Amino acid sequence: MQICKEELCTGCGACASVCAFGAIKLLLNQSFERIAKIDKNICKDCKKCFNICPALKGVEYNFPTACYASYSKDIEDRKTSASGGIASSLTNSFITSGGIVYGTAYENGKFLITRADNKAKAKLFKGSKYVKSDSEEGIKNALLDLKQGKKVLFFGTPCQVAGLKNASKDNQNLYLVDLICHGTPSQEYLEDHVREQTKKGFADIENISFRDKDGWRLKVYTNGKVVYNKSHQEDVYFKSFLNGETYRQNCYFCSFAKGERVGDITIGDFWGLGKEKPFDESTEKVSVILVNTEKGQKLLEEYGTNIKLIAREVKEAIEGNDQLRAPTKISKNAQIFKQEIKIKPFSKAIKLTSTYKACKKLQRRNKLIRLAKKILKKI
Ligand SMILES: Cc1cc2nc3c(=O)[nH]c(=O)nc-3n(C[C@H](O)[C@H](O)[C@H](O)COP(=O)(O)OP(=O)(O)OC[C@H]3O[C@@H](n4cnc5c(N)ncnc54)[C@H](O)[C@@H]3O)c2cc1C
Ligand code: SF4
Ligand code: SF4
Ligand code: SF4
Repeated sequence: MQICKEELCTGCGACASVCAFGAIKLLLNQSFERIAKIDKNICKDCKKCFNICPALKGVEYNFPTACYASYSKDIEDRKTSASGGIASSLTNSFITSGGIVYGTAYENGKFLITRADNKAKAKLFKGSKYVKSDSEEGIKNALLDLKQGKKVLFFGTPCQVAGLKNASKDNQNLYLVDLICHGTPSQEYLEDHVREQTKKGFADIENISFRDKDGWRLKVYTNGKVVYNKSHQEDVYFKSFLNGETYRQNCYFCSFAKGERVGDITIGDFWGLGKEKPFDESTEKVSVILVNTEKGQKLLEEYGTNIKLIAREVKEAIEGNDQLRAPTKISKNAQIFKQEIKIKPFSKAIKLTSTYKACKKLQRRNKLIRLAKKILKKI
């Protein structure tokens, strides 16, 4: 039995986290997307899951009242974050004040939302992981912390934030940060791709990063060493992600891709910064912060003291960022991939897209350039 229609389910897992009887599991469908399913034999028909599901009941949105171009004042923190290091800066201040932070980490072969009450654990949250992270356990634990009167800061994609928002009702101890999001592919796709490239499954992979001080690169680590390292243009998982070809079906109809926001603040890359109105500094590694509620303003005032904030117009952020206006469109490559992934693993399904061919062409070209440079060095 389902809670909402399969094509609307975001896999946020809020339903599973509120079911007192453990009757809901997130199960993989034919396309490897995790969909919430109720076990009729366990369900007591209390309706709690139906009443909090954002896909069924909607969620409260707020239009931003302020917008900032922003970055962490800690140079190293900014350098090692995906964008301006806003998430990391807020996280560290919140933990120093005794709060609990939830973010996405790669742990024991899974990308999942998990809990941190110390800075060492919270370091795992740093960096954008371009996959769908599992969030039901994270939401469940955040609800438990709130029940015990703890202060909670939660980072997630808007659909994950919406799930916790509905499940927690209006809790004053909860601060919600949503990321601007253009879509998420299943972890199974990434694992299959990594296995194809490194001959290792997630169980043997120590870490995976997408953006760091070297820019946009897919890097895979085992035993402290990088065993795979390709740019976002050469790597077919990364390229097809950025092209919007491999997302969950519901992402193409995402109701959160708009100016009105679900979190107390929204963070993302500040695309289009300075295009109309000049920006006096470099636009490299500058994030956008949208302040959507009074609580969001309080969050910045109390925990954002190590963040440089430069006021900009909300309009500038919305005009510069597609995902603040509409969901990603389904391209021809996305349609091909969607058909193929039902019957093939990622590494085979993606081969039929023009993106795969473009990546291979670039890899061959770069290989030749490297070879030519090597020969020239020897002469
Ligand atoms: C799947 C995804 C898609 C995105 N799409 C866009 C976009 O289209 N446009 C745009 O402007 N910005 C997008 N972003 C946001 C961008 O990548 C940066 O996260 C953002 O600019 C903040 O950067 P930062 O340096 O402050 O923090 P970062 O170092 O990026 O960390 C940000 C926080 O994101 C959380 N996080 C990381 N991966 C995930 C995940 N898979 N699911 C949920 N939470 C996660 C971490 O817990 C961390 O707290 C996306 C992020 C993700 C994860
Ligand atoms: S609460 Fe989230 S996971 Fe559960 S059915 Fe609704 S959208 Fe799907
Ligand atoms: S109706 Fe109640 S018991 Fe049944 S799955 Fe939903 S939350 Fe669980
Ligand atoms: S695009 Fe929308 S539905 Fe998909 S992961 Fe992002 S917020 Fe969730």
